[in-house]
Amino acid sequence: MTNLRLLTLAASVVASITLLNSTNVLADSITDNPFYAASSLPFQAPPFDKIKDSDYAPAIDEGIKQHDAEVQQIANNPAAPTFENTYVALEKSGVLLGRVLQVFNGVSGANTDAALQQLQEDVAPKLAAHQDSIYLNTKLFQRIDAVHKQLATLKLDPESARLVTVVYRNFLLSGAKLSDANKSKLKALNEEESTLSSQFNNKLRDATKKAALVVDSKAQLAGLSDAEIVAAAQAAKDRGLPEGKYVLTLQNTTQQPMLQDLTDRSTREALFKASWNRTEMGDENDTRKLIVRIAAIRAQQAKLLGFKNYADWKLDDQMAKDAKTAIGFMQKLVPAATARAKLEAKDIQAVIDRDQAALKQPTFKLQPWDWNLYAEQVKKERYDVDENQIRPYFELNNVLQNGVFYAANQLYGLTFKERHDIPVYQEDVRVFDVFDKDGTQIALFYCDYFKRDNKNGGAWMDNFVSQSKLLGTKPVIFNVTNFTKPAAGQPALLSFDDVITMFHEFGHGLHGIFADEQYPTLSGTATARDFVEFPSQFNEHWATDPGVFAHFAKHYQTGEAMPSALVDKMKNAGKFNKGYGMTELSAAALLDLDWHSLSATAPLQDADKFEIAALKKDKIYLTEVPSRYRSSYFLHIWANGYAAGYYAYPWTQMLADDAFDWFLTHGGLTRDNGDRFRAMILSRGNTEELALLYKTWRGRDPKIEPMLENRGLKN
Ligand SMILES: [Zn+2]
Repeated sequence: MTNLRLLTLAASVVASITLLNSTNVLADSITDNPFYAASSLPFQAPPFDKIKDSDYAPAIDEGIKQHDAEVQQIANNPAAPTFENTYVALEKSGVLLGRVLQVFNGVSGANTDAALQQLQEDVAPKLAAHQDSIYLNTKLFQRIDAVHKQLATLKLDPESARLVTVVYRNFLLSGAKLSDANKSKLKALNEEESTLSSQFNNKLRDATKKAALVVDSKAQLAGLSDAEIVAAAQAAKDRGLPEGKYVLTLQNTTQQPMLQDLTDRSTREALFKASWNRTEMGDENDTRKLIVRIAAIRAQQAKLLGFKNYADWKLDDQMAKDAKTAIGFMQKLVPAATARAKLEAKDIQAVIDRDQAALKQPTFKLQPWDWNLYAEQVKKERYDVDENQIRPYFELNNVLQNGVFYAANQLYGLTFKERHDIPVYQEDVRVFDVFDKDGTQIALFYCDYFKRDNKNGGAWMDNFVSQSKLLGTKPVIFNVTNFTKPAAGQPALLSFDDVITMFHEFGHGLHGIFADEQYPTLSGTATARDFVEFPSQFNEHWATDPGVFAHFAKHYQTGEAMPSALVDKMKNAGKFNKGYGMTELSAAALLDLDWHSLSATAPLQDADKFEIAALKKDKIYLTEVPSRYRSSYFLHIWANGYAAGYYAYPWTQMLADDAFDWFLTHGGLTRDNGDRFRAMILSRGNTEELALLYKTWRGRDPKIEPMLENRGLKN
């Protein structure tokens, strides 16, 4: 089915925002709408020169209307259900809706404005209802079910058979097979969950704001930069506090960036505790009762759908398949991560002891609020790397052409040519033709690298047009990042993190560019969450591969290669503090899996007791290294669609590092290796069980050892 993935994304993004009244758009006749017909530009690229903000709403409404009519026709078809008249017909449906939503999602993420923001709010509930009207359509499911029952005798080609399996499972996992009474129960649980998630979101937002630390004197802020102190004074003023007060606002994670610089230990402790206790103050923003109830609701949803717990339900269509496998993986990671963190703690304690002795002060035991300050000191002493020394070697265009594109050329034979005749949504956006090894064009690639006020934070990849042989469409891919834009006439010099980000997003890009699927549902990056970050993290490795690195890391003025001593320092610094990072991440991932492994018959939990018991059971209860998120402020899992899915971050790191290890033992950067990876992984979308897809390419199941080695977790 076209773009259900998009529907889900669009709906979840804005699920909790108050609905505003839709403004009446003075739409031209729908036939004048630039979305109504397929674009006549190459690869059906969006005609951004014709698209106005006011075109989206009528096109989305008309798209939903058309898709509804198509779905009704399929459901009410008097002919006996067949693969063609049911599954293929659904794949062909919703074309207009898909076309407009892909562009709408792309532009509202990268170049939004007030009108688009309001439209996002208006559209979310409509799309959610539209999705329900498909998945909970009894007549439609009867046909889906009937064809699925004959699957063994239908003699379908492998991709078509996979489509039946995947679509049938999507219906099943959404509750299509339930009795009417149980459908009502599920719907009620879904609604309560969604209400509580919104409440969680609001409480957390208010709690985070309220818990900002008020500081009474400038002396207590020692270590912060002048700019940070000015910002803290302004934040106090904004809150109506008297002159001389300062406010340190909180970010969403347990650790706060300023803990790295604050030298006054009592300020550090107060800031850390403000963060840690933000949602457990016993006031109206306390979330503990809420999360316990959400966990219980989810256990009941899972039980209705025939699963032991929520994690098993949510992982049924993922690569890991069930909670046991995901937890087993995390348990293999824990000993290495915690052992490394304990070593780092020792190093830090030694620095504390030494510094206190020099000050003729009694020493103290390392606490979580001390970690970042003293870790920075260890870093300076051991791995001193100056950003300003590095940046001149990473000029953006050079990294793109001689790094990112070069690696893709060496591995897969791709070539790229910039073009200036395709309309873009903002003047900084660049467009490239992507040519295959035989010279035929296979995709369009857009990149939008510079930070803007109206762009979401972070970096991402998506499609403007998804590939499908059935629909006759080829990939139109975009990458968006937030690199600092240089002043006019100045070169854009990147940090090494930026370089990695560029390779990462282009790795997603390759997954889209090489898509070679018949059906849109199975195409390109439309795979499981615990697989989709594999090609991107894998592609990061080429940034540091000696052959690729030497080709792009050249001084933008002199053209000289980066001195090897600086390269070594930079690579070495990449392993710094990895024990802490992996331990806080693993603790969060395990808490997520533990909360979502509760059965429907389990009694209501006490949130704090549950959290401590879970971490102790998982052997990851380190007082100096708290979870990246405490359960009571873990937004990803209670309101952001990552429930039972946070493990996917380290899981896909394992795949990426294990895959790169295969390349290293087979000659590295060669066309043969690249072509094989493309044929067996990058071009395959979701056309095969993902664990099998990986195993067939790798010759065995993934192993965790390369990840431990690569992430600095081997001692
Ligand atoms: Zn990614």
